[in-house]
Parts: sequence; C-alpha cells; structure tokens
Amino acid sequence: MKITEVRVFVTCPGRNYTLVKIMTDEPGLYGVGEGTLNGSETIVAEALRHIGQLLIGRDPQRIEDIWHLLYRQGYWRGGPIFMAAIAAVDMALWDIKGKQANLPVYQLLGGKAREGVLVYRHGHGRDPIECEDSVRKWLEQGYRVVRAQIGDYGGAGVVDSLPPVSPGTPSTKIFEPVNYLMGTPKLFEHLRSTLGREVELLHDAHEQLQPIEAAQLAKSLEPYRLFFLEDPLMPEHRESWPILRQASTTPLAIGEIITSRWDCLPLFMNKWIDFIRIKPLHVGGITEARKILTLAEPFNVRSAFHGAADIGPIAQSASVSLQTVIPNFGVQEWTSYSDAAHEVLPGACQVQDGYALPNERPGLGMDINEEAAARYPYQTAFMPLVRRRDGSMHVY
Ligand code: MG
Repeated sequence: MKITEVRVFVTCPGRNYTLVKIMTDEPGLYGVGEGTLNGSETIVAEALRHIGQLLIGRDPQRIEDIWHLLYRQGYWRGGPIFMAAIAAVDMALWDIKGKQANLPVYQLLGGKAREGVLVYRHGHGRDPIECEDSVRKWLEQGYRVVRAQIGDYGGAGVVDSLPPVSPGTPSTKIFEPVNYLMGTPKLFEHLRSTLGREVELLHDAHEQLQPIEAAQLAKSLEPYRLFFLEDPLMPEHRESWPILRQASTTPLAIGEIITSRWDCLPLFMNKWIDFIRIKPLHVGGITEARKILTLAEPFNVRSAFHGAADIGPIAQSASVSLQTVIPNFGVQEWTSYSDAAHEVLPGACQVQDGYALPNERPGLGMDINEEAAARYPYQTAFMPLVRRRDGSMHVY
C-alpha cells in the first residue's frame, strides 16, 4: 500500500480546525487526522503541506517508522507547530490501520481497560452564585466532575479589559494576581457550603501565576478538596515546582502546552505532579502520547488530557481511544461541538452518564466532509493578551 496524496484543510465551523486527509492507492481507503493549534491553525497547515511531500509513495502501515522520519527529517526537532503536524499525520495513519483491520483504534492499542472515559465540564459565572448554578446544570446532566471558575481565566483577578487595537487582533485582559488569589478560595467556600464535599470540583489557574503565588493558591484551596488544581505554573518553571508541591496536598495537573516527552520526564521523576495534561494532538499523536503515559505509569501520574473548545472532534476521538486502554487514566476535559462542526466532522464521540464512549466504528470513527468544510472558511483568530494595570505585559 502507498500514500498517494496528503490533503490539508483549515476550516471554521464555529472554531478553526486544521485537518488532514491521507489518501492511499487502495480504492476508498484514507485516514483523517487533526493538527489544530489555537491561534496558529494556518501555520500548522503550512507545516503539514511541507512534510506531506515526504509521505507520497510511502507505506502508511509503517506508523512508527513514519513518526521518526517526520520527527528526525530536519535538524530542528519538535516545537508546537511540528508536533501538531506530526500528530495529524499519526492520527490519520492509525485511522487507516483501523479501517484496514475493520477495528476501532482502541482495539489496535490493546482493547478496553474501561467502559468509558470520565470527563469534566466547565462551570463558570460572574460570581459564586452564578457559578454554582452553572455547576449544578452539568451535574443535573449526569456529569460527575466540573471545573469551577469566576468568569474566564484569571477569575476575580481580571479587573478590566481593553478592546482590540485593530480589527481581527486580540483583546487584552487586565489581570491583578492579588484579586485572583483572594477571590478563588471564596468561590470554593461557597461551592462546598452549597454543593457539599462529595461533588468532584477542580479549578484552572491557566499558568498565570508566579511560583510563590501558585503555592499560596494551592494551600488556600486545600480545605476544599479539589479533584486537582489545573496548570498552576508554566511547565518551564522547573526549579520552582518543589515550592508548589511542598505547599499543600492539593493534587496538581500540568502540561496542556507541553509538546515533548523530555519536558514531562522531570515532572514524573521528581513526583511534582499527579496528572499530566498532554494529549495526542500536541505531542505528535497517539504513538507518542502512549509512550509518555507509559513513562508516567511507574511514577503514579495519571492522564488528564486537555480537551478545551479549541480541540476538534478528530483529536478528541484520538484522546478517548487512547484513554480507553491505558491503565493510568485520570480524567478527560470535555467540550461539545456546534451543529456546523458535526456537519464538517461527522462521527464525534458520545457521552453517557458522565463518561465518553470510544468510537466503535473502524479507525477513529470520524470523517471530513470536504464540501461542508469549504463552506466554513478560516477566520483570523488570536489568543487574548494579558497585561497588568500599569500597562505592562503580564510576565509569569
Ligand atoms: Mg486549562
């Protein structure tokens, strides 16, 4: 079997997604993959067009060999752009292998270790009462774990916002850490007093704190028994993780922006974290994400795959497939998609009683409707900026 064509798409059925379709010389056999990188969707597409040239004429069944070919073909290795592009190819190759075997990808990876993948949803509001209402809404729908935030990232620390400097450019939040550090424990005090202690709640600090502030937050939230505190620090503050770890017994989850196994290793070996937030999409696909979770296993680190709204249905299906089979599974962040996204990308995973079910169709169980994708062209988008009240960029 040979790869005959690598088709790359950037489409915006509600959100921008970077997609790939790898065609083979076997009639009707192709694989689909996703390389979406929030704010850099077209850059990954260009990387995919570039490395796609290396794939023509190769055997798509040789997943491990193609992974290393793409990773090692350049002197410059890794980084978020290339790892997302490699991930898209890797997902498409697993999809082809599944279709060829007439089996879902989770079967190729070893079969079910669980019936479904526990997921968490996002609860938020302008104040603790609104947030409580939002958390209750998810619980009533059968979800078992809910993230709780005041507003968006930065919570009560977002004291103002500035409009874009020019059309199509990002807006700016004004963030003051002291307001955030004071407001967040008050939110959880309210939620625990109204929802009780058994409900599984978590909180996302979104890497906006200095190390000592992150330690203060983890300690102040300890009485409220979080499922975990998400991304309290940027992963590169390596020398500061012990300060945070020693401050409390609040479980720690980190790594949604990690793209390399080498950045995961010290977090595992030093036992600085409880959950790793990588996912196939940004570390080079299912092949590499599985290896990282195997490295995590002896250090009692469990998966908590990143799955926010900027991660599309193909990447979500890849995450669920892998977390169905690994022994050290923790939780999966969950998002649902617009009707337009379902039209462009039919076959998304379903949730039942708070658990995502792996796709039972061959491969990843997903498709790309090219005609529909063309009706939703790419929309320029950036991540929001964060500044302090004095006008300086927020440095953390
Ligand atoms: Mg997050």
